[in-house]
Amino acid sequence: MNNQLIDVSVYLKDKERYNEGRPNIIMHTSSDNNALIKATANGLVCEAGEFVIDPWEPAELALITHAHADHARPGSKRYIATPDSVALLQRRLGDNINIQAVNYNESIKLGNTSVSFHPAGHVLGSAQIRVEQADDVWVFTGDFKRDFDPTCLPFELVQCDTLITEATFALPVYRWQSGREVAAEIAHWWNLNIDANRPSVLFCYSLGKAQRVLAELMHFTDRSVFLHGAVAPLTQIYRDEGVSMLPTQQLDLKEKRNYNAELIIAPPGAAGSTWMRRFKGASTGFCSGWMRVRGNRRRRGYDRGFVLSDHADWSALIQTITECGASRILTTHGQSETLVRYLRELGYDASELTTQFTGDDAEPDATHQQAATGSSGKDKS
Ligand SMILES: [Zn+2]
Ligand SMILES: [Zn+2]
Repeated sequence: MNNQLIDVSVYLKDKERYNEGRPNIIMHTSSDNNALIKATANGLVCEAGEFVIDPWEPAELALITHAHADHARPGSKRYIATPDSVALLQRRLGDNINIQAVNYNESIKLGNTSVSFHPAGHVLGSAQIRVEQADDVWVFTGDFKRDFDPTCLPFELVQCDTLITEATFALPVYRWQSGREVAAEIAHWWNLNIDANRPSVLFCYSLGKAQRVLAELMHFTDRSVFLHGAVAPLTQIYRDEGVSMLPTQQLDLKEKRNYNAELIIAPPGAAGSTWMRRFKGASTGFCSGWMRVRGNRRRRGYDRGFVLSDHADWSALIQTITECGASRILTTHGQSETLVRYLRELGYDASELTTQFTGDDAEPDATHQQAATGSSGKDKS
């Protein structure tokens, strides 16, 4: 394996020209028959362990990487997840689900396999799942990031033979600033709005992003923040798990009051809805990795875009792939043709898996987003 990185500046400068004249490789694949984990119509199935990871159809036994809606779906008979995911999963899937908690790094036997969960750094409780049978080790990253996030355990590098990695932001244009830097921008924007005597409405995905912003803002203020009803209960779960954040209060929709000078955090689904009417003259902002692409903010009608993602950026993807020791790389989420092509040039056995992971916009509370903003609904956080 050649672990030297090739020069990616050519991708950065002109992806179109780079791809010109190259065969258009069809890379969607179902895994080979001997694969320990296969992408099937039900999800990422491990026959030897008799479980499905993040199934999109009800399964006998579901191993859940994290509580975002496209990874945690209802209807499975049994669930296994990390302790920090349990309350979030009960909130999303119902208190009566049959769920077993397994600590990070604790190995359990399932069928003929040994399975363990490892921190993914994505949201509270998020995990990569390691599956071992005989000498064959597979890791599914779930969603992950390597940037510091005060609301969850940091990503842990796990050695493996085959890595199934998310590739939500798998283009070199995606590179992130630290959460602290983005929070400084948000605090500055809030201050400008206070001077202008208008409310600041910040749209963030309700699980993970909102809490990360509330935690990072503690470096800049101790003011209280108002939360939309979809954000407040999830934020309370984070508090119950010991995460420090700015003081918050849930909006009381019956209360007639002036929100000028206040910061309000709401899910993207609330944008453009009648809910917004109570914040006359508000400045609106959206926190998302998609704000990295020029034009997205204007197209979607936000006053400000803050580039903050809970997914790995291009360099974190490459770093993880090269450091984990795997020779086979399978990608999920989004358009990973560039990544697959790049990895093949480095000598990897790389393919794109067809899955139903859609990105974190699949949260139920964000479903109105399409109607509200006219966006394609393809956006992820
Ligand atoms: Zn996620
Ligand atoms: Zn995902």
